[in-house]
Amino acid sequence: MKTIIEPFRIKSVEPIYFNSREQREIILADAHHNPFLIDARDVLIDLLTDSGTSAMSSHQWAGIMQGDESYAGSPSFYRFERAVKNITGMPFIIPTHQGRAAEKILFSSLGGAGKFFVSNTLFDTTRANIEYSGAEGVDFICEAGRHPSIPAPFKGNLDVEALKSFIEKKGAENIPMCIITVTNNSGGGQPVSMQNIREVKALCVAHGIPLFIDACRFAENAYFIKLREDGYKDKNVLDIAREMFSYADGATMSAKKDAFANIGGFLALTNEQLAQQCRNLLIITEGFPTYGGLAGRDLEAIAIGLEEVLDESYLQYRIRSIEYLTEKLHEAGVPVMRPAGGHAVYLDAKAFLPHIPVSQYPGQALVGALYLEGGIRGVEIGSLMFGKYDAQGQLIPAALELVRLAIPRRVYTQSHIDYVAEVIIEVFQHRDQIKGLHITEEAPMLRHFTVKLKPVVA
Ligand SMILES: *Cc1c(COP(=O)(O)O)cnc(C)c1O
Repeated sequence: MKTIIEPFRIKSVEPIYFNSREQREIILADAHHNPFLIDARDVLIDLLTDSGTSAMSSHQWAGIMQGDESYAGSPSFYRFERAVKNITGMPFIIPTHQGRAAEKILFSSLGGAGKFFVSNTLFDTTRANIEYSGAEGVDFICEAGRHPSIPAPFKGNLDVEALKSFIEKKGAENIPMCIITVTNNSGGGQPVSMQNIREVKALCVAHGIPLFIDACRFAENAYFIKLREDGYKDKNVLDIAREMFSYADGATMSAKKDAFANIGGFLALTNEQLAQQCRNLLIITEGFPTYGGLAGRDLEAIAIGLEEVLDESYLQYRIRSIEYLTEKLHEAGVPVMRPAGGHAVYLDAKAFLPHIPVSQYPGQALVGALYLEGGIRGVEIGSLMFGKYDAQGQLIPAALELVRLAIPRRVYTQSHIDYVAEVIIEVFQHRDQIKGLHITEEAPMLRHFTVKLKPVVA
């Protein structure tokens, strides 16, 4: 088999600004060991997120010029609507400025105290919008999804038995919706199988609970189904995606992920009455229903991106580049989450830095070390992000201490990925020299964005 090459050539480039280790030491200290406080210009390879960081195609840029900025009834809206309908098969399409805006509108309509929204794993903004409405979010991730280092094909699956007993205990009338997140972002970008979606759907139908899909990475998930699930090898990805959506009563999407757009999102619905209710809210918070918080040019870029993302040579390259990096690291003995997910590589910081106690944030220490060694920016997903304090002020750690290296779509080439692997392996070889961190300043909520830290002095 020959090398899987990037299925594009480069027409427009952006410079990367090189700096020295000495400069990075000053930069990291000035940023208080928090990658969110580092200027993007001071980063060589930016793996902070895959959201809104995609490279758009020449077709998308051409679409940007063709965007029609009419307030009402813009042809760009109809083009966007056709593209979303073509994939989801849903009749009511509502544009929003991001995925979370679609969530806000949906959960304002259906949420409220005493209600439970159930899921394989709710993404942070989804959970936050559910809780903001007064309702509760409950995750039922399958057993395989709880073990980062044990490979399994569909670690994003929902635990159907657990959901069944929950429905029996709480009553279907208190569960307005089940949400399947594809791929499972918070669980490492792991896919959900078609069989699991079908089983969840059957359970939902039996109890009259609508099924929604959080579709941010629907194309990556569809491609995993093609690769890994019996009976899908010869189907095209569009048909697989259509089948996924055929089981759903609605979907939310951030176009900043699998639509290659820098901004945007949507809500797709099958229920006309709910669509009307959501459109009324949309007008208050986002805008008129034919633009919903977006410019006409953004709608064009999303419409074109939704077609491009289903190109199988793209998906092959996309999934392979994440797997390639994961395998390289695994072969060098670096503890990584396996198998590779669809959009990011996750380092297991607890296993990487066993000499740093969880109370000294090994994930954040590793993020700092990757920046110092090679100017790479990742993000801690562990006790700094999710840790809480008990009544005595002692840290209640998160379940896992991970570092996420999210790969922007169509942005970096194989040599960039090789460089990332080299840097991580270099850091791994000198891991015993890495020191833990302690917090000097923090906010009461979502502290990881603004927290300030200092190395622990032994
Ligand atoms: C990014 C994301 C969202 C929220 O989308 P935004 O465009 O960032 O508001 C919701 N769910 C999942 C799974 C995501 O990855």
